[in-house]
Amino acid sequence: MSDSSLRLVWIYPDLLSTYGDQGNALVVERRARQRRLDVTRIDVRSDQPIPTSGDIYLIGGGEDRPQRLAAERLGRDGGLPRAVENGAIVFAVCAGYQILGHEFINDLGQRQPGLGLLDVKTVRGEGERCVGDVLGDIDPRLGLPPLTGFENHQGVTYLGPTARPLARVRLGRGNGSGDGTEGAYSDTVFGTYMHGPVLARNPLIADLLLKLALDVNALPPTDDRWYEALRNERIGAAQQPA
Ligand code: GLN
Repeated sequence: MSDSSLRLVWIYPDLLSTYGDQGNALVVERRARQRRLDVTRIDVRSDQPIPTSGDIYLIGGGEDRPQRLAAERLGRDGGLPRAVENGAIVFAVCAGYQILGHEFINDLGQRQPGLGLLDVKTVRGEGERCVGDVLGDIDPRLGLPPLTGFENHQGVTYLGPTARPLARVRLGRGNGSGDGTEGAYSDTVFGTYMHGPVLARNPLIADLLLKLALDVNALPPTDDRWYEALRNERIGAAQQPA
């Protein structure tokens, strides 16, 4: 970290927070404060420059048109790739995830370049939109409990050789490519299709982001009984036959 306060950057709330993904920023802030960590939240609108000195950057999902505008502006701005070069952590959801990859199909039906921060590529799914609850097993290397969330996307994402799947789905579509993968990560850059908001449903992922930002292996424990009750309810509901 550059100073004693952890800098949490929420990217483009005016374009990419359609599905309550702003809750992810609230959860990271809360999990940090529960550990008595000083955290500064910086909301960056799409007409403002992306600061390069952040520790954790969050990006949400969005409809196809705001996604195109956000990708154009992030590409022109260049701050997020510079922050990643400096070791920043990025956690992006759905449209944000697609923007981190090499390219996606925009609302005009054109192939649009992404930031190339993740070795993934998104095409337009030919089948039905992927909508519904998801339950998956997170890559064991990350040491996290099962992933739960809600997906709503038309894009289908394929992983290249340097991206690792974030999870393998037991239920739901995830990346939608038919290989059972969900999301992707590489070093400190993470992408997922999970809304929910995903960090409220999976608070230990928020803790992972904090640990990476602080470069520590563990954080002081928190009372997670409430989270666990919510998680178990969601996992139970997801497993009910429709
Ligand atoms: N517009 C993208 C898609 O449908 C992303 C949707 C989202 O962010 N939920 O694939």
